[in-house]
Amino acid sequence: MRSPVQQYLESIVEQCSGTEGEVASYIPELAQTDPDRFALALATVDGHVYTLGEAETCFSIQSISKPFTYALALADRGFQGVAEKVDVEPSGEAFNEISLASDTGRPPNPMINAGAITAASLIAGENTESRFARVLDWLSGFAGRDLEVDEKVYTSELTTAHRNRAIAHMLREFNILHGDPEEQLDLYVRQCAVSVNTRDLAVMAATLANGGVQPVTQRRMLEPAYVERVLSVMATCGMYDAAGDWISAVGMPAKSGVSGGIIAVLPGQVGLAVFSPRLDAHGTSARGVQVCERMSNDMDMHLMHVGRMSTTAVRSRYPLSQVSPRRSRPEADQAVLDAHAERSMVYELHGDLLFAGAENAVRAVVDDTPELVILDVRKVDDIADVAQDTLRGLRAALREADAEMAVVDPQRVLPDPDAGTDQASPYFDDLDSAVRWAEAEVLRRHGRQPTDEQTLVNEHPLLRDLSSSARRVVDSYMEEVHFSADEVVLEVGEQFSGVHLIVEGAVIATVQDRSGGTVRLVTMNPGTSFGELALGTDGVQDTTVRAISDLAVLRLSAEAIEEITAEHPLVALQMWRAMARDAYRVAERALRAGATFG
Ligand code: GLN
Repeated sequence: MRSPVQQYLESIVEQCSGTEGEVASYIPELAQTDPDRFALALATVDGHVYTLGEAETCFSIQSISKPFTYALALADRGFQGVAEKVDVEPSGEAFNEISLASDTGRPPNPMINAGAITAASLIAGENTESRFARVLDWLSGFAGRDLEVDEKVYTSELTTAHRNRAIAHMLREFNILHGDPEEQLDLYVRQCAVSVNTRDLAVMAATLANGGVQPVTQRRMLEPAYVERVLSVMATCGMYDAAGDWISAVGMPAKSGVSGGIIAVLPGQVGLAVFSPRLDAHGTSARGVQVCERMSNDMDMHLMHVGRMSTTAVRSRYPLSQVSPRRSRPEADQAVLDAHAERSMVYELHGDLLFAGAENAVRAVVDDTPELVILDVRKVDDIADVAQDTLRGLRAALREADAEMAVVDPQRVLPDPDAGTDQASPYFDDLDSAVRWAEAEVLRRHGRQPTDEQTLVNEHPLLRDLSSSARRVVDSYMEEVHFSADEVVLEVGEQFSGVHLIVEGAVIATVQDRSGGTVRLVTMNPGTSFGELALGTDGVQDTTVRAISDLAVLRLSAEAIEEITAEHPLVALQMWRAMARDAYRVAERALRAGATFG
């Protein structure tokens, strides 16, 4: 099947069939080029290359080598070492202008010849041979294949390079170049004569688009900070005296060369290369400019084009009390949660978090001033460093206000720098676990001690109002049963088998929805009971109850209840009265929850 992208590229090229301009002739060998050659290549940051025309035909790289040797100079000498010798100001002058700053003698930028000869001179190595070997290796690394020098172009340019020779000698006079200026010139002319094809150039551009990692070989060529610098200089100076026009009309960092090539970089997306040897007045491929303008327009490639405003990062925001009805717990605990769970908040974030997104989330939290925060980042795709720092700042601010933040983050997109220390934040793989943490924390913060087993049992609504003699009878019928995590305790459809009082661990009650999926209805904790609801549905269990941790229950079986009813009617009366009271309590809570959230 033919890709619509390929078809689209073909249609653009058909419409940009410029025949204006002449091939460069000041380098005699370049004058031999067939002026109507054409190629286009587009390389994605994941390493796919679309090509059109003679994308495998080689030509000398010329000035497109400049951003790459500047990059190598930066890698060799660092920002400071390079800045001492060459500036980053657009000159608004032609590529071969003899221009140096009047005080320091520094060339204005590394994209015009004076600056490029200087950048080449900063490349480390024993001698010109070994330094050039490094340049060739470097360019080959970006292209992902072994490149060679076009010896004819090299000799042709070197023998006629009067202007560049003058520039080199002048740079030497200002102590910008060291050593023999002829050798530095030689290195520069050889770098310009490296033979590449349009596909190579697109992949080289895509390496810059990909933050310095060659998208096909996956080799890291350049540190991201240097990539940013190189792209900035390309954006402001890459098109010489047409830089303003270019950034306005095309809007991508780019570089052209007099042999007819142009590369353009759309950071994070693609590298683009065009080859068409007829040049405009700036020494840039005329048809190449036309194609780039057209693509930028049609494909929204202009860097300043904002396709999508950053939308809110907070997908939803709600108090803990809104999740709590899906749980059952001892009444006294419930009372504390009813009073305080409003001040614990869940924030679900989504999308790519850059500064604006993190600011958005932080502002929501600051407005709420909650006591506990659950930050759910499961739907976040990527978090920029600045967003990570901002969210960590939020945690610090919360702690200062005696609040705490938990994170739901199974993928660890927001790593905890304090993981493993006593400063670590609680991290959870699912929201439910985080909610359980928050509830326990609310209870702890508001004075509820974790109740011991015996008290839990004594306070259970079924037992607490029994007279001591009745209680003794009931106790004698209760048996302790254990289950392990994941074990099904009650199955939907089975007959009422008794009342189960949770002493330790927790269970969930689930039902199947229409499509057969499992829906959790409620989580039940120690001090609560299950099974008795079947009495309301003709003795048929209508949920599946499953242990979610090791579980201990006290069971008053259906047979035991029958026996008590037969043998100890007065005890049974007390017991049924307690059951009815508890059932009304549950019904009342459900009604209230329905009124609030229905
Ligand atoms: N080698 C060429 C020169 O120095 C490169 C110029 C260019 O491509 N713009 O003149």
